[in-house]
Amino acid sequence: MNNIAANLDVLREHIKTAARKAGRDTDTVRLVAVSKFHGGEAVEAALQAGQRLFGENRVQEAKGKFPPLRAAHPDIELHLIGPLQTNKAEEAVKIFDVIETLDRPELAAALSKAMRKTERTLPCYIEINIGDEAQKAGLKPEQLADFLRLCRDEHGLIITGLMCIPPQNENPQPYFARMKRLADTHHLPHLSMGMSADFEIAIEEGATEVRVGTAIFGERTKP
Ligand SMILES: *Cc1c(COP(=O)(O)O)cnc(C)c1O
Repeated sequence: MNNIAANLDVLREHIKTAARKAGRDTDTVRLVAVSKFHGGEAVEAALQAGQRLFGENRVQEAKGKFPPLRAAHPDIELHLIGPLQTNKAEEAVKIFDVIETLDRPELAAALSKAMRKTERTLPCYIEINIGDEAQKAGLKPEQLADFLRLCRDEHGLIITGLMCIPPQNENPQPYFARMKRLADTHHLPHLSMGMSADFEIAIEEGATEVRVGTAIFGERTKP
């Protein structure tokens, strides 16, 4: 667990360096600590090291892990970064603070309904399938304008950002750059991109949130 604090220190330094290199203020880049597949003790170690922003990719897993931690640390901010089924929208709205993976009209409707029912208003990011990969979730960039209109005008959702996972085993830089242009075009202030292997490139291209798991918590073994 000691490692987690040390890993966070190293990571924060790398984030600072990457931001400086890009001529950006370090405060404009937030670290989302991705704790999926790691237990509450690992999250607790990160909390002790000052981390407050976390990402989880499954509703069920987050539901088991975070409510007790939140009781002790009310300032935790939890982002959903994995795919969300419409029948889990209500649970997700109760547990998370930001939904980063809004990717289709049915989910926009389900989230809107869940927010009205729970009287919670969560900002959402729209997931973009920036590499146009068949197996991946996310909207095509050219669908974004219409989808934004639908989310906001029909469903009253608050959309504040974009997120993506670029194609594996390719240079992510052009994908990140394209994401930055999309976010700027649509005046979306948040841009969630970059993971353990490529967060420095993402920061250079304008990421405001980098989602890092392995570099903080170590390798994951499936639960
Ligand atoms: C697991 C995951 C991450 C973190 O990946 P690492 O390579 O462990 O840093 C980031 N984003 C999403 C969407 C993930 O599912």
